[in-house]
Amino acid sequence: MTDAARVVAITGASSGIGEATARRLAADGHRVFLGARRTGRLDALTREITAAGGTAAYRGLDVTDAADVKAFVSAARERYGRVDVMVNNAGVMPLSPLDALRVEEWDRMIDVNVRGVLHGIAAALPVMRAQGGGHFVNIASVGAYEVSPTAAVYCVGKFAVRAVSEGLRQESADGGIRVTLVSPGVTESELADGIGDPAAREAMRAYRAVALPASAIADAIAYAVSQPAQVDVNEIVVRPAASAR
Ligand code: NDP
Repeated sequence: MTDAARVVAITGASSGIGEATARRLAADGHRVFLGARRTGRLDALTREITAAGGTAAYRGLDVTDAADVKAFVSAARERYGRVDVMVNNAGVMPLSPLDALRVEEWDRMIDVNVRGVLHGIAAALPVMRAQGGGHFVNIASVGAYEVSPTAAVYCVGKFAVRAVSEGLRQESADGGIRVTLVSPGVTESELADGIGDPAAREAMRAYRAVALPASAIADAIAYAVSQPAQVDVNEIVVRPAASAR
């Protein structure tokens, strides 16, 4: 382990971008602490990382529960002594037109994509303040910059993540806390599997035909995390080269 090795807590590490980020950061020598609801997958990933010579541990996590997120961050600190980086990545995307009135799905997007990130900040910020510094990596989306049909409520959540990240950055101008917003374009993952609305699901099939590998987003996160303490990478947008949106 080098001096630049960090303790990194990652929410939503059981698939897609979170899983790729865990692999990449562990390969870079960071110690990762993984959270998600599907603990069987976290167990397998932890074993894989450990077998490859990395350092990883996990805990079951539901980001909609503030107390659970606090317990997750506490467990990471108990395990490794500190929490340098909190990657607020967990998210859901059940897209639908507003007319479909899928209110339960709207609520779930707000609960996971907005409250989940706020819970991550509430849990990790005091720990980082107490240890004299830390780094939040919040995963937004190109949907934090533009709205498209069927994505209105999803975009509400991602605009919100962008807003709170900017607020946190401004309130951390003493230099102790760094804040990076990472906004992926279409990326291979399980995200679109949760779309229940038939029309939105069909539309997404074409929209998602050109996609980045999740490792491309992990690379962007690794770049931000590897910067020296005085460098704060604030926003990264990563789209497939062969995509206009
Ligand atoms: P995946 O569906 O593959 O991964 C989502 C992760 O979030 C899973 O690990 C899932 O784990 C976790 N998760 C969902 N709900 C909860 C919950 N209540 N508590 C804890 N964990 C939860 O999708 P991605 O990897 O693509 O998504 C990661 C992030 O990237 C999301 O914030 C998404 O909005 C964002 N993003 C993705 C894009 C893409 O095209 N893939 C584009 C732009 C942004 P589990 O079910 O085990 O709890």
